[in-house]
Formats: sequence, structure tokens, C-alpha cells
Amino acid sequence: MKFCSECGESVQLRIPEGDNRERFVCGACQTIHYQNPNAVVGTIPLHVDESGQPLVLLAKRGIEPRHGYWTLPAGFLENGETSAEGALRETIEETCAKVENLQLYRVLNVARTNQIHIFFRAHLPEPSFTTTPESTEVKLFPFEQIPWRQLAFPTVHQALRDFVDEYPDGPFTPAMHDITRQSWHELDY
Ligand SMILES: [Zn+2]
Repeated sequence: MKFCSECGESVQLRIPEGDNRERFVCGACQTIHYQNPNAVVGTIPLHVDESGQPLVLLAKRGIEPRHGYWTLPAGFLENGETSAEGALRETIEETCAKVENLQLYRVLNVARTNQIHIFFRAHLPEPSFTTTPESTEVKLFPFEQIPWRQLAFPTVHQALRDFVDEYPDGPFTPAMHDITRQSWHELDY
């Protein structure tokens, strides 16, 4: 950041009094501009068809980053939203699917990119969804056809891998993992 969003003057990186790390501080109005991690929220939409087969809904990204790769519906939490509300909204925006009964499943710390990703298990009662401006393809996958090598992000891989491994008996206990630079290389394909 170069300029103060309050007054437009230039900012400098320095440690404010009583703080212990550098912040952007405005030289004119003295506003301290804190920068903190962003939350990404999403769902693992599960549909069970008439024959009892479990299917998970994935979207092919039509936008950068990771254009053309598959993802669980997820995106940045907005101000004024709860994490579950955000996950529900992102699922609709990216797939037009109306999921319900959201259950907290995975919290994934991505300290390297200053993000925390929260995934909910979700029930998709009707196999009803479409492409959207953000997704060029939306599709239900039997677990054995999940495109593991074409997944967009290590967080999506981790949440989905855990879910498929635990299905159908659980325990589906909410858990937290740290996603590191090594995570891509450690993926067990
Ligand atoms: Zn200022």
C-alpha cells in the first residue's frame, strides 16, 4: 500500500508505539492501516442419487487463479456474513446449487498466503445446478472419478480427500490442518 485510504497522503511502514510489528502508518493523519488474513469459505456438496451412489459437486474455474481447474465451490467471506452464510452464497454463485444442512468440517490455515479456508459438509437434495460466469462446467462426480490431479488448490484437495476417506461412516469430526508450501508435493495421488 502506498497511500492512505483516509486522507490520500503517503504511508510509511513502521512499528507504531505499543505494537511489535511493522504497519502502514499515514504520515499526515496517523491512521494505522492493519492488514490481516482473509477468510475463504466453501462447501462440499454431496448428492446421493436414487441408486444410493454418493456424488460430489465440483465446478471448473472460469476465472483466474487456476482457470480450468476443478474446485469445490468457495470464495472470500464478505463483511456482515457468517461463515456458513458465505459458504452458501458462494455455492449458489459458482454452481447455482441450493445446498442445505451445512456442517463445519475443515479449517485450513494457509499462512503463506495470509488466508484461512473453512469448508462445510453440505447436502444437495436435488441434482440441480448450472454453469455460471465463474464456472465453465459444473458436474457431479462419483468418488472414483474425482479429478484429483486437476484440483485447483491444496485446500480443496485436503478437504475433499478427508471427506471421501471418511465417507460414509464418519466420524466427520471438524478438524484443522496447516497447508504449507510442501502440501502440493506431499499429495498422495
Ligand atoms: Zn491519512
